[in-house]
Amino acid sequence: MNVEGSTLKIESSLRCWVEVDLDAIRRNLRAIRSAIGGGPEILAVIKANAYGHGAPGVARAISRDVAYFGVACIDEAARVDGLGPRVFLLSPCLPAERPRAVGSGYVVTVSSAEEARAFAAIGPVAINFKIDTGMGRVGCPADAAGGELAEVNRIRGITIHSISSHLPSSDDDPEFTARQLARVEEIRAALAPLAPGAKWHVLNSAGIFGFPRHAHEIVRAGLALYGSACPPGFQHLLRPAMAWRARITLVRDMPAGATISYGRTFRAPRPMRVACISAGYADGYPRQVSGRGAAVLCAGVRCSVLGRVTMDQLVVDISEVPSAVPGDVVTLLGRDGGEEISASELAGLAQTISWHIFTGVSSRVRRIYNEPAEG
Ligand SMILES: *Cc1c(COP(=O)(O)O)cnc(C)c1O
Repeated sequence: MNVEGSTLKIESSLRCWVEVDLDAIRRNLRAIRSAIGGGPEILAVIKANAYGHGAPGVARAISRDVAYFGVACIDEAARVDGLGPRVFLLSPCLPAERPRAVGSGYVVTVSSAEEARAFAAIGPVAINFKIDTGMGRVGCPADAAGGELAEVNRIRGITIHSISSHLPSSDDDPEFTARQLARVEEIRAALAPLAPGAKWHVLNSAGIFGFPRHAHEIVRAGLALYGSACPPGFQHLLRPAMAWRARITLVRDMPAGATISYGRTFRAPRPMRVACISAGYADGYPRQVSGRGAAVLCAGVRCSVLGRVTMDQLVVDISEVPSAVPGDVVTLLGRDGGEEISASELAGLAQTISWHIFTGVSSRVRRIYNEPAEG
């Protein structure tokens, strides 16, 4: 039995994999482009192995459509260097990472003149000067930004490529976000003479769809690229790129009263046909969903996860799928027939966020693309 609509050839010995729909990612890019219009550049956020989708494959598929690749660190940068788009380090560099960042020509994110000076001591460098307007993580305090920037201007070897800020609540607090974005406009007006050539950027995925008029020169798209909207109001514009699948390894008939998995937290209320599935928390399937009503799709039918998720296996109720046999594909995330399990559904059950579900898919899970990699 195969998954309806899937045209991929998957080895029957594969236990757990994700299928990445590169067309969906390119479509999502077009949705982002139509939200912001033709002017702004797009920075594709492909940190954390492209949110679990596989950074080299995703990067190659969109290299002609974006201006920048956003990564968290030097090792991630090296994996996507040389494909065309300029590589942008979104997190602060460790002191020990700075020589490689400068030598490779990456755009580095700095929060102070002191940090800029440390980079410039190594060699000429392009910086993204970050201003903290509410995120409370990296960035120069907004009140000090003018002074710091004036000082940065006096450091030889520094090019201010861009000036940016980050939105802490673009998906859950539109009032705060609107005020924050207005503040950024004021800051920009005040600082413009200090950095006339700098490109400004603030918007992440939720910002792009909620506040496209604040796109400035660049937008930074992560989650939306992968087809997941948060908040869900813009989901109709996007198409999820990931389907996460595993297989039935074993089918068993359990009597009423049988308990299932560690801790014996689930007791069969009636005779049940159950299947063991070749995926567990070591693959990234969230253990936290245990006992909370999670399901997988088997032959297009929702099948409840029973008892606790274990390291390499989970047990599901296949009483409604009498034809199921070992080797059959089940869907942990994505579509099968008319049913779909979204990242936000799984995240909600695990009391976490879609970003965490995507980035949690572990290295044991093979990434398979719906088209051959170019080049
Ligand atoms: C990760 C990251 C993003 C992407 O956020 P999404 O909500 O996934 O679009 C944007 N900007 C910065 C600075 C980031 O670190």
